[in-house]
Amino acid sequence: MLTGGCLCGAIRYEAGGTPFHATLCHCASCRRAAGAPVVAWFSVARRDFRCTTGRLGLFESSPGVWRGFCAACGTSLTYRHDDLPDEIDITIASLDDPGALPPADHTQAAERLPWLPLCDGRPAYPGGRSEG
Ligand SMILES: [Zn+2]
Ligand SMILES: [Zn+2]
Repeated sequence: MLTGGCLCGAIRYEAGGTPFHATLCHCASCRRAAGAPVVAWFSVARRDFRCTTGRLGLFESSPGVWRGFCAACGTSLTYRHDDLPDEIDITIASLDDPGALPPADHTQAAERLPWLPLCDGRPAYPGGRSEG
């Protein structure tokens, strides 16, 4: 069981099952939502994620895309797409042990910031992984 939470502690969550699609997303939407040059995500089945403390604030950042955050401190926590209702993405950096879940690749690398070189040897996909 993976556990994590926001900066202020108002939201705590747990994620079970097998994590998949751990990636570093370079898209402009993630960047602005998190206020960070790149955002690391992993996915689990929706049924395997739950908040044990608090409730996610939700913002629809694109049609059908719901970003979950802490309404008290602003930490970016989750991403859901209405087209993939059985999955939820969670920010790796909000885990209690983010070092234990390394991203496998870079996605949306076409939107990468020019001052952030990709030199870690991970595959980099210009768009989503499937468009590779
Ligand atoms: Zn918080
Ligand atoms: Zn993104």
